[in-house]
Amino acid sequence: MPTDSPIHIIGGGLAGCEAAWQATRAGAPVVLHEMRPLVGTAAHQTDLLAELVCSNSFRSDDWEHNAVGLLHAEMRRLGSLILACGDVCQTPAGGALAVDRVGFAEAVTRRILDHPLITVERGEVRGLPPADWASVIVATGPLTSPSLSLAIQALTGEDELSFFDAIAPIVHADSIDMSVAWMQSRYDKEGPGGEAAAYINCPLTRDEYEAFVDALLAGPKTEFKDWEHVPYFDGCLPIEEMARRGRDSLRYGPMKPVGLTNPHQAGERSHAVVQLRQDNALGTLWNMVGFQTKLKHAAQTEVFRTIPGLDAAVFARLGGLHRNTFLNSPRVLDARLRLKAQPRLRFAGQITGVEGYIESAAIGLLAGRMAAAERAGVDLPLPPATTALGALIGHVTGGHLDGGAGSFQPMNINYGLLPPMEPPRRSETGKPFARGERGRAKKRAMSLRALADLDAWQAAAGPATRVDDPAYGDPYAQSLARQALS
Ligand SMILES: Cc1cc2nc3c(=O)[nH]c(=O)nc-3n(C[C@H](O)[C@H](O)[C@H](O)COP(=O)(O)OP(=O)(O)OC[C@H]3O[C@@H](n4cnc5c(N)ncnc54)[C@H](O)[C@@H]3O)c2cc1C
Repeated sequence: MPTDSPIHIIGGGLAGCEAAWQATRAGAPVVLHEMRPLVGTAAHQTDLLAELVCSNSFRSDDWEHNAVGLLHAEMRRLGSLILACGDVCQTPAGGALAVDRVGFAEAVTRRILDHPLITVERGEVRGLPPADWASVIVATGPLTSPSLSLAIQALTGEDELSFFDAIAPIVHADSIDMSVAWMQSRYDKEGPGGEAAAYINCPLTRDEYEAFVDALLAGPKTEFKDWEHVPYFDGCLPIEEMARRGRDSLRYGPMKPVGLTNPHQAGERSHAVVQLRQDNALGTLWNMVGFQTKLKHAAQTEVFRTIPGLDAAVFARLGGLHRNTFLNSPRVLDARLRLKAQPRLRFAGQITGVEGYIESAAIGLLAGRMAAAERAGVDLPLPPATTALGALIGHVTGGHLDGGAGSFQPMNINYGLLPPMEPPRRSETGKPFARGERGRAKKRAMSLRALADLDAWQAAAGPATRVDDPAYGDPYAQSLARQALS
């Protein structure tokens, strides 16, 4: 329904600033509410908008072979403020896009403050937004203030807003060695869909299990920050903590071998079994059941590749436990990021269950465009599932397969979220690829498909800009960012 009222955006972080920028590009006025510096968070240090709370890297910028690089490329094509300011504030980082953190945040802040359609109001939104805010984007991030979190939780139900994540690693299906692993559900029990072989199982002998437990205990762990206060809930203990409580705990817990028969070794009972459960509807990603961990990422890759069947595993996500406020989005949001219980509230950023600066900004980009389109009475089609943007929003609003309480956990963009493609056999010049080159060629083919599909979508959806607003490559944005850096 067309209206004159502004879009209220709560949270001036990566997602909120991108959402504001995109909404104004479509001509919508925005009021951006940011509580800092009046009320702080445990991680932010400044009063700047879009502050980077930890690393200064937006990760790989390789659009041809890396999914986050592809997301950069797509966002640049859609006039992303975060990418435009990131590009101007680059610092040397090889193939990654790293930025001068202060220069970057200052460039975004000035751009937002100077925008004639954006009003920035400093102050915490405590509790649910006033009823007369007809269109709201909640982009308050992993450290959403308690008063607002509790109000959201009252709307969604207690189980649908988490304050901590408990992330188990996710493996690309095509990197699992099925000549060692096998498909079977415990005791061949049929699931609701009649499937009796729903899990991938990786067997360990006694010696392999003992070596695995030693490696878990010895591996370097990430320390919790003082303010995180992450509790250990029964049912999602880190695996190294389980191993510390008793060498056989894992064998009687997530690695129990009962009810499983290894077809590759008839008659031999496995000493322990690691199970993987399908994580997305495409079947390209599988999570290691019960394997939440605080092991450092490099150690996880090393230790988990000692598991038979996973020796060449490619991880789409590694495990972790953090303080993190996020919704069970596949259940509580609709396809356009609106809360089913109160559709005037749209969500964006890390609180929707994506992970990372760029992923948060990407969901902000879509939320801003959707809110502006809705305000103008236009139905904005979703970006195709073959694009990184489409795959990311698809995952948080429905692509994840519900595996019960706590199964939806924060996710980075990765190629496993996009519909798979057969790896090309020949290069563009007709030269056959060597075996080891086909993985890279497949990623490149998926990236090319994504950009072509994004361009077609953008052409069909019509320009987001109502006035002549060349956001990306805009000399004004660049000169502001340069001033901020000097
Ligand atoms: C400690 C920590 C370290 C991280 N490190 C990285 C990293 O190195 N790399 C990476 O890619 N990702 C990292 N992340 C994850 C994530 O990418 C970032 O948190 C990212 O900033 C999320 O973007 P966002 O816009 O959703 O939230 P934010 O950038 O956090 O923005 C949310 C904003 O909302 C404001 N706010 C909160 N509640 C209210 C309220 N009630 N009223 C008004 N304003 C409110 C906050 O002050 C904040 O400015 C980290 C997260 C945390 C918590």
